[in-house]
Amino acid sequence: MIYVFCALLGGGVLAAICVPLFRRESTVESAIIEETEWDLLLHKKEVLLGNIQDLDFEYKCGKLSETDYAQVRKEMTGEVAQVLERIHGIESSLDLDALIRREIAARKDTGKTASSVQVCPSCGSNNPTKNRFCAECGSKLKP
Ligand SMILES: [Zn+2]
Repeated sequence: MIYVFCALLGGGVLAAICVPLFRRESTVESAIIEETEWDLLLHKKEVLLGNIQDLDFEYKCGKLSETDYAQVRKEMTGEVAQVLERIHGIESSLDLDALIRREIAARKDTGKTASSVQVCPSCGSNNPTKNRFCAECGSKLKP
């Protein structure tokens, strides 16, 4: 019974490994339009981790020799490491972009505040630049 189960699982693993390899060629172009490299990498990571899990299970079932298992697993973990590295690279560059955008937005805000508000010389309250007289104390504002 366990042999049948392992055979089925083994077939599933092979399909899971091979199908994306063949399918990738045709779908990658349409996928790029919708998905960023980031999304693709995250998906690839999930697939690779799943494959490693399946491989471990297959090895426990006794379908693989220890040397085969060690070699394939080494290749798979190497691939995962590459994917993780690229994800990490994108993450840190995304953080930089977000930081820069925040800085620019902050600058724009202060620029806007400075040009659209004038301070009353007698009471110190803020007034819109279009006001000719202070809304608080009625003093004449500088043009
Ligand atoms: Zn005033």
